[in-house]
Amino acid sequence: MTGPRLRHTLAQLPAYAAGRPPRGESDLPPYKLSSNENPHEPLPGVLAAITAAASATNRYPDPMSTDLVAALAKRHDVPSSHIALGTGSVGLLQQVVQITAGPGDEVLFAWRSFEAYPIMTIIAGATAVQVPLRADESHDLDAMADAITDRTRLIFVCTPNNPTGAIVRQDDLDRFLDRVPDDVLVVVDEAYVEFVRDDAAVRGIDTYRDRPNVAVLRTFSKAYGLAGIRVGFAIAHPPVALALRQTQVPFGVSTIAQAAAIASLDAEAALLERVAHLVSERDRVEAAMFDQGWRLPASQANFVWLRLGDRIDEFVEACEEVNLSVRRYGDDGVRVTIGEVTANDRFLGVVGAYAPATHR
Ligand SMILES: *Cc1c(COP(=O)(O)O)cnc(C)c1O
Repeated sequence: MTGPRLRHTLAQLPAYAAGRPPRGESDLPPYKLSSNENPHEPLPGVLAAITAAASATNRYPDPMSTDLVAALAKRHDVPSSHIALGTGSVGLLQQVVQITAGPGDEVLFAWRSFEAYPIMTIIAGATAVQVPLRADESHDLDAMADAITDRTRLIFVCTPNNPTGAIVRQDDLDRFLDRVPDDVLVVVDEAYVEFVRDDAAVRGIDTYRDRPNVAVLRTFSKAYGLAGIRVGFAIAHPPVALALRQTQVPFGVSTIAQAAAIASLDAEAALLERVAHLVSERDRVEAAMFDQGWRLPASQANFVWLRLGDRIDEFVEACEEVNLSVRRYGDDGVRVTIGEVTANDRFLGVVGAYAPATHR
């Protein structure tokens, strides 16, 4: 028996290894530092909006998410026609590939970067072109520009980059965009932009304004703490934004998600205070690791990235022994999310023993 004939391209898919919860082998309270989630539960006002929206669950949601689109347009000072919503920005990532690339087309991005990029590219039957990061973990935009061919249809630029935390600088992006043909869509994935404190970093929404081939992706999952509810948005010029709305799963963004996102925009000041606290925790962790002998490129996101060479197994095991789950990327490295103060302290207690010997 051979079963139904499925598309050949699916055989190339890497397994998406989502962050695992801690295994719970020790008596210590477990912490999940493997998915870049926000450690804070929703604010009371956001939770109230979610609860109120739940009572309308017998109805389909507003398919145009009219109120949320209007709120986002106001918040970011862009026309409503420039906004498209998705089931998380991962939903939009799939849509941007769908609207630009199919078999024979190339999708270009740095590597390592977000693992959804190759997955969405392969699902569409397009070809992934991966350009290695530079030694400082940042995008090699010159090499990426050199890698553009007449088959390139889409380019992802992830800043800060997941999993390395490095930003793309605005001046570097501007020079890169000057080399990209007008008919190639460049998607600036700013999933962690609220955690950025470096003034030289890309400002995606400023960049898109005078460049019709640039789109920006944002999400409510990370800084706003709504990962479980699946809502993200794109800001793009009308032909691109329209195509994204056309390819959205109908009714994908639920009434609950729309209400939670609107309530989060209303409570933005309080949410950004929490982000500021996470940023100060990130800076504290990085400073403590520096004292331990680590010399890491600065992360501008809510995680740190460790290249551990042949000690990677041992490190992951040591974290699991104290009930911390971290995210391993094959033999390349480990990404550790900045979480609760206690979790960060526990991580610091483990990671010191793995500081590169040359610096100690
Ligand atoms: C987490 C993440 C996203 C999106 O997450 P959603 O929950 O789907 O909004 C997008 N891009 C990057 C780089 C991410 O790390």
